Amino acid sequence: MPEGDTIFRAARTLHRALAGQTVTRFETVLPKLARIDCDTPLAGRTVESVASRGKWLLMHFSGDLILLSHMLMSGSWHIYRPGEKWQRHRTHMRIVVETPPMLAVAFNVPVAEFHSAASLARREAFNRLGPAPLAADFDAAVAIANLAARPHLELGLALLDQTVLAGLGNVLKSEVAFACGLSPFRKVATLTPEQLAGLVATARQFLRANVTESSGHRRTTGRMDGEEFLWVYGRQGEPCRRCAAPIRSQKHTADGRISFFCPVCQT
Ligand SMILES: [Zn+2]
Repeated sequence: MPEGDTIFRAARTLHRALAGQTVTRFETVLPKLARIDCDTPLAGRTVESVASRGKWLLMHFSGDLILLSHMLMSGSWHIYRPGEKWQRHRTHMRIVVETPPMLAVAFNVPVAEFHSAASLARREAFNRLGPAPLAADFDAAVAIANLAARPHLELGLALLDQTVLAGLGNVLKSEVAFACGLSPFRKVATLTPEQLAGLVATARQFLRANVTESSGHRRTTGRMDGEEFLWVYGRQGEPCRRCAAPIRSQKHTADGRISFFCPVCQT
């Protein structure tokens, strides 16, 4: 699943390509979007900005229209010059926003909605998003309080809860727990305030590092070797980079998601 850093980068790329440009063509296979475009056409509007919030991507158009999309497991946004060959087949296309220099194409985006600022504010799931560590107004104290308010959740699941902290996915949640020396199967209730603060700070650090990382690889170890980008994720049975014990993976009983961890370094 794309994590918050991936969506942040997608938004930044789209913003650089489209902001300030006038939409010359809008195309979609999604009926709800097509109906809005029919009633209040996208063509002629200006792309004001593209931004991310957690794992949501928001494309703001002039005239109080916002395209909200979520990639879930399979979706992606690409940018192309007019006439350039797409990297995905046309059958995967869901949305095209064309401007004179560039067009943005959404492939397999499962969630896409038009909103006004008012309807977006009412949309519950969006409002319930926790603070996004990549946002300029990120408030760590709120994120720490949100974590503390879920004492019965296992840490590995609490870190994925987008109402706690918006942006972490499966890879980084395992990496954050390792970096903090905490078992992802501990209940949040067993953690000290210092440990909670450390988790939030580490989550932010890893997300930020991966926004500036140019290789396209998600990386938490700070190492340059392509084999050593991650501490634990996907490394079941391989030796821990700190203590050499075999890395383990285990499903959380609550929802069957997997956490990777070192049984020695993480307690
Ligand atoms: Zn270890």
